[in-house]
Amino acid sequence: MQGRDALAPLNEQCIASYPLPRSCLVENGMRGSYNNRMKLREQLSQLPQVNEYLTGPRGERWLKVYARSVVVRSIREVIEERRREILGGGAPDLSPDSLAGDIEQAIRRHGAYRLRKVVNASGVVIHTNLGRAVLSDRAIENVVAVAGSYSNLEYDIAGGRRGKRYSHIRDIIRELTGAEDGIVVNNNAAAVLLCLDTFARGREVVVSRGELVEIGGSFRIPAVMAASGAILREVGTTNKTHLPDYENALCGNTGLLMKVHQSNYTIRGFTEEVPVEGLVKLGRKYRIPVMDDLGSGCLISLEKYGITGEPTVQDVIRQGADLVTFSGDKLLGGPQAGIIAGREKLIARIQKNPMLRAMRCDKMTFAALEATLMQYRDGDRALRDIPALRMLTAPAETIRKRARKILSALKKSLSSQADLGIVPDQSRAGGGSLPETDFPTYAVSIKPGGMSVNALERKLRLGDPPVIARIQGDALLIDARSVLDREVRTLIECIFAAFT
Ligand SMILES: *Cc1c(COP(=O)(O)O)cnc(C)c1O
Repeated sequence: MQGRDALAPLNEQCIASYPLPRSCLVENGMRGSYNNRMKLREQLSQLPQVNEYLTGPRGERWLKVYARSVVVRSIREVIEERRREILGGGAPDLSPDSLAGDIEQAIRRHGAYRLRKVVNASGVVIHTNLGRAVLSDRAIENVVAVAGSYSNLEYDIAGGRRGKRYSHIRDIIRELTGAEDGIVVNNNAAAVLLCLDTFARGREVVVSRGELVEIGGSFRIPAVMAASGAILREVGTTNKTHLPDYENALCGNTGLLMKVHQSNYTIRGFTEEVPVEGLVKLGRKYRIPVMDDLGSGCLISLEKYGITGEPTVQDVIRQGADLVTFSGDKLLGGPQAGIIAGREKLIARIQKNPMLRAMRCDKMTFAALEATLMQYRDGDRALRDIPALRMLTAPAETIRKRARKILSALKKSLSSQADLGIVPDQSRAGGGSLPETDFPTYAVSIKPGGMSVNALERKLRLGDPPVIARIQGDALLIDARSVLDREVRTLIECIFAAFT
């Protein structure tokens, strides 16, 4: 009886120092038997102090690699977790090895980047959620070279004076597209906005009702018009727009004739649209600039590969468009950027728009874009060396080989745990490009025996690196088209890990 009373205040004292709901303590400690309370005290006293770890050899090792705040936070978390377990009536492993193992895991979790690489086994080549285009080796090398040093970003080396960041990229844009001049901003949405702001603020922009695109999220042509202060003048109907529809809409306040590429949809059946040449004729007659928002930025005709309906930038410039806007990271296969190619006089006006400063790209983008564009000087090399183009134009046989390689590695140790095979399927271009084009592909099909296909998909997604695959029925499909050759080994290891 006496012993019990003597213990009570001590327990109270312990309780006061734990940031835990009192009810939980009362339930597990206070109300238990004397023996139970003694055990609880004994267990709690075995928990180490944060400092014991920090100053020990393990702590020293962790501190060499990770920030002190990360190490301290991780040790605290793990000790706190154990404390909770004890107070909840459990008997957690308090051995130094067990604690250290958990602390290391926590350190790795807290120390890891939030933005990180993933393996794209979805088959969607220009996957907007997965960072769109993968840069080419040349582009990556150039980013490293330019970002790891000082550069002539705004310096004219020959003249020994201040230069312009846009000057480096204009020659290659001119060379590839045939345009008089070019400029680059953060993305194509910015390019469109900047053109509208420069040429049509407070003025009318004539657009066909069949081209009032929503690209995704909040990029919708009518909304962009409103944001830029331009006045949208819709003409024609959803399925048919004729040249006179445009002509009848012109007035003294028309600032721009605009064509928008139907990137992510098609209108079929009883349809008609005015080709860019038609708009150019009209524009010349009334002295109104014609702009074509192409979206994808295709610089090589891909018809040979069954990819049709995607005009090249050169085509549109040749047909007389005064301004053409396109993305750097869709079919072009470079960094996120918006490229404006067109008449020198118009680009000069864009250069003077104060909004340009707010949309300017940094040196890493210029480095990656210049290197990517240079690769287009030789079309065959571009198709081979720019990942997005290589993946989209890969022959089915190449994809099948990659799928077979993955399959045979998996079969070696997973045959008893999953039903494995290769299935023909369709991949997608993605990124709002080529909505109608199917890309015949081969996928490794995994039907797990011991878990659901959803569980397997989740395990792969939460792995390191995450693998993004797609579920079809009771199978998980690993589409070999979008898997980089240098990541095949990693992918296989991730799949093994998901089964252990
Ligand atoms: C994709 C696209 C845009 C937006 O380009 P971002 O580079 O994603 O900003 C604008 N217009 C069209 C027609 C597009 O296809």
